[in-house]
Amino acid sequence: MKGGCPSNILGRYMKLNFISAKSIGLQLASQLQGMYETAITFLYPAECRVCEGFLAVTSMPYICADCWRDIQFLEPPWCDICGTPGVNGLCDTCAISPPRYGQLRTVAVYQTALQEAVQLFKFGGKKRFGTGKGLKGLARHLLQLINAHIPADCAIATYDFILPIPIHKKRLQERGFNQATLLAKGIAKVEGVPVLTDELVRKRYTVAQSSLDSAARQQNIVGAFEVRNPDIISGKRLLLIDDVFTTGATIREAVSELWTADPAEIDVLTLARTLAT
Ligand SMILES: [Zn+2]
Ligand SMILES: [Zn+2]
Repeated sequence: MKGGCPSNILGRYMKLNFISAKSIGLQLASQLQGMYETAITFLYPAECRVCEGFLAVTSMPYICADCWRDIQFLEPPWCDICGTPGVNGLCDTCAISPPRYGQLRTVAVYQTALQEAVQLFKFGGKKRFGTGKGLKGLARHLLQLINAHIPADCAIATYDFILPIPIHKKRLQERGFNQATLLAKGIAKVEGVPVLTDELVRKRYTVAQSSLDSAARQQNIVGAFEVRNPDIISGKRLLLIDDVFTTGATIREAVSELWTADPAEIDVLTLARTLAT
């Protein structure tokens, strides 16, 4: 009998009912999951990502007020050129083979709250944090702290242009933003200095420097940058901005490429630096 077999009809009916029951079940499960998460948040409030202590509703997202207060802002003495802390005059490296920038200054040590905040931006991004609402609050707070602690001998208003270390457009798509650009804009805004985001570009996609050792970092970054429209920066005082100074390989390469456009001066400001162990 063609198509009329009662057991086939019954089978199809049961299958349909099973599918709709399944979708209702899924909706219910998702609602229950939402209720469960709300209850857990209420019963067990969020933890600070640094100290794992109680994160008050009134505090910044992700990081508690005590941990923000623990940030170690850098103060002189430091190497006149590379800014290595605890050095009077020049460090051994700069005395023997000075870098090609005028000076490098850093706001704070890359540890605890600052390290966590940078990691949240760099590797969390919008994908992990949905709307990115929390990240915006974090960015605002971070910029206030940075602007209040920029080293006195890094006079932002005296530069013609501020340039962030660029990331490759493929990475920009992955991450949704360049954290160095956010920093540069947040710092430049206070003094009204123009930020150039299209003049120094990343022409080559490279693996993340943080995944490599010191020797490999230098190799990885060679030839990664390119200056577009050199006339714009020729003869100008430039301040290059990056988030973290580790081995300095990325900054050295970017500075070297910028010199091809014959600027008057290149200085560097980074949000954080790792301390030699
Ligand atoms: Zn904490
Ligand atoms: Zn030095």
